[in-house]
Amino acid sequence: MKTVSILGSTGSVGTQVLKVIDRHPEAFRAVGLSAYKNGELLRAQIEKYSPKYYYYPDGAVEVQSSIFDLIEDKKFTKCLSSLEELASMHADITVLAVSGMAGLWAAEAVLKRGGTLAIANKETIVAAGRHLKALEKKFGGKILPLDTEHSAIFELLRGEDKKQVKSLILTASGGALRDLPKEAFSRVTPAEALAHPVWKMGKKITVDSATLFNKGLEVIEAMRLFDVEASAVEVLMHSESVIHSLVELSDGSQKALVSAPDMALAIESALYYPAHGEDSVERISLADIGALHFAKPDFERYPCLAVALEAAKLGEEACIAVSAADEALVEEFLRGKIKFTDIAAVLNKVLGKFSGQKTVDIDDVLSIDEDARKYTYGILGVK
Ligand code: MG
Repeated sequence: MKTVSILGSTGSVGTQVLKVIDRHPEAFRAVGLSAYKNGELLRAQIEKYSPKYYYYPDGAVEVQSSIFDLIEDKKFTKCLSSLEELASMHADITVLAVSGMAGLWAAEAVLKRGGTLAIANKETIVAAGRHLKALEKKFGGKILPLDTEHSAIFELLRGEDKKQVKSLILTASGGALRDLPKEAFSRVTPAEALAHPVWKMGKKITVDSATLFNKGLEVIEAMRLFDVEASAVEVLMHSESVIHSLVELSDGSQKALVSAPDMALAIESALYYPAHGEDSVERISLADIGALHFAKPDFERYPCLAVALEAAKLGEEACIAVSAADEALVEEFLRGKIKFTDIAAVLNKVLGKFSGQKTVDIDDVLSIDEDARKYTYGILGVK
């Protein structure tokens, strides 16, 4: 029996992790939960799983009012005072499924206790992946990727000699707007950008999938997780989302990971690691699918991808800056304050401002993040 702590248990990834735990009660037990906004769901989860610990942020009034009586009830052990504290409590696996940079300190806390961190939060890896990998090595912990593509690459690299790996190839579905004429992009509404054809995910990542900035972040994520240069990571358009990524070896062969597009595979691969699950996802027949399609990415259609790839080549500072700026821009787009095409336009300006030097420590990361957000809001004229 493995114990699992889920940071961000009421979100899209968190609820999918709990579904996996529900399917395998003999194998996993949820011992830590946390929510940011959804008090009612957190309450239901606390009652169902009786975790040892849970956390919600100070000032989250709705959450507090939903679970007020549970806080007093000793049956539910302990309400902790920070996400970092929850991360520092022992669990065999700690899942980081909160969004944005809020997860950074928690990721650090897991690795500093030599724990296993299953990480879905790509902003944290993009911003501080190199530092987190150093902590993994120093304290003997383990980072397991939950992002589908990176989970696939992690599996494909098992047993391979790193020196014989030539490139990592990330597949991309094309997102919600893949069939829309380019000319119509400036009029895209939040509702249209949120209608992803394959994956059901959180709002920020779904908009990032429509701009393909998500795939750019994933290139940087792959560089940090697998310690490779930007030139060794490629993006391949693949509309069926059946191949979840590929690895090219020195002999010219490519290995692909093929499965139904269901995040449960990545989750079970992490929870069962180093073993595999049983029937983690529905089996598929390639004969039934018949044909798979591939193409190069169209950078005119997806200028945000071009920005992220340029940042990946420039260096850490540029990567942190465009990632932070994008978080702010997507929020403004979802609030109806800017056009869809403004996201790429502003990201390009941010890219021109932040040069790309290496960060020394996590404080550096946070100060670049903050500067990039300020610069972005300055361009938008928002205080
Ligand atoms: Mg992904």
